[in-house]
Amino acid sequence: MNHFCQYAKKCNSCQLCNLSYEDQLRHKEHICRKYPGKLCTVKKITPSPRITGYRNKAQFVYKREGKRLVSGLYKSATHSVMAADHCAICTDTANAITAALAKLFYSFKVMPYDPYTERGWLKSVVIREAAATGEVMAVINGADKSFPAKRTFTTALQKACPMLTTAVITVNRDRTKLFTGKQSEVLFGSGTITDILCGEKFIISPTSFYQINHDQTEQLYQKALELAELSGNEIVLDAYSGIGTIGIIASRKAKFIHAVELNPAAIADAKRNAQLNGIDNIRFTAADSRDYAKRLTEKDARVDVAFIDPPRAGCTSSFLNSLAKLSPDRIIYISCNPETQARDLRVLGRLGYRAEVCYPFDMFPHANHTESVVLLTKKD
Ligand code: SAH
Repeated sequence: MNHFCQYAKKCNSCQLCNLSYEDQLRHKEHICRKYPGKLCTVKKITPSPRITGYRNKAQFVYKREGKRLVSGLYKSATHSVMAADHCAICTDTANAITAALAKLFYSFKVMPYDPYTERGWLKSVVIREAAATGEVMAVINGADKSFPAKRTFTTALQKACPMLTTAVITVNRDRTKLFTGKQSEVLFGSGTITDILCGEKFIISPTSFYQINHDQTEQLYQKALELAELSGNEIVLDAYSGIGTIGIIASRKAKFIHAVELNPAAIADAKRNAQLNGIDNIRFTAADSRDYAKRLTEKDARVDVAFIDPPRAGCTSSFLNSLAKLSPDRIIYISCNPETQARDLRVLGRLGYRAEVCYPFDMFPHANHTESVVLLTKKD
């Protein structure tokens, strides 16, 4: 057992949890020096404001133990479920909800789904919380539509978990997919939660991407905005925009924002978010960033500053080519994978951009992920 988690040796969700927090920070800073650091200066890592209870999204799985149903964590390397009554990086609210749900599922005879025998129904529960407003959503993921006694279950759920502001059921028939369901049905509430980030409101749907560490995300976005040096006259590109967080926050300081994101559900949220905040100088497009950036070059569109925030795989070279053709003065590259970030920085280097500085942020204490923001400027 380590200093903060009793399951540290058994659970492999947090790969670095046997290191002290200082050593984890040193390790992540080292990763940044090893990759983007070969091309630019790496600043000191910004530690996470909280190192336990920081996740606003918690994923739980369930298993039968004798005559009980228990909540647990999914061991990704072994495909087995480890019973755990407390996850240290999840909030107390999420831990309390999953414990209450385990009892409720058992009393309603809702049994965990087994991908081998294809028996049972319950795949997982995802608890999403809006740190700033206190809204909480439970997303109950099942194997098919046949959930029994929905009405009585909903009443019992509201009684057992009064902190929930909404609950939805999602269904995923794919044997191997445990956490995300496409079809969803609202049990009660609005089916979304609303959070506040850097002063703007954001509606979050059950499956939309949203940064999991609220307070650290605010620090990261503030740094990204500071590096962008917006004066109010810039045309900005927000590529890989998700539900529109960066673009909406930047829109107050820019003339116009082009935002692009692949997931149509996230774009629907993004449009609602712009409306919710009374912002009309932003346009969201559901498309592949690569195709969208190419279209902008064909239209000879002006882009002064670009924020790019791709998934772990990084950008495609074709996207980077179009981006360089658009010729923004500054590119702010936010990444959750310093290795692919460094690869893309090299490509941008050949296309006329200099990586100036890298700021690492610890978004995921105890887990093996490193987040970094790099500023690139056009070479003369
Ligand atoms: N900037 C957002 C989201 C970053 S996560 C935030 O900070 O909240 C990366 C996003 O890229 C995801 O929403 C994912 O759906 C999207 N994405 C993945 N591949 C893409 C592609 N080829 N083109 C556009 N968006 C893509």
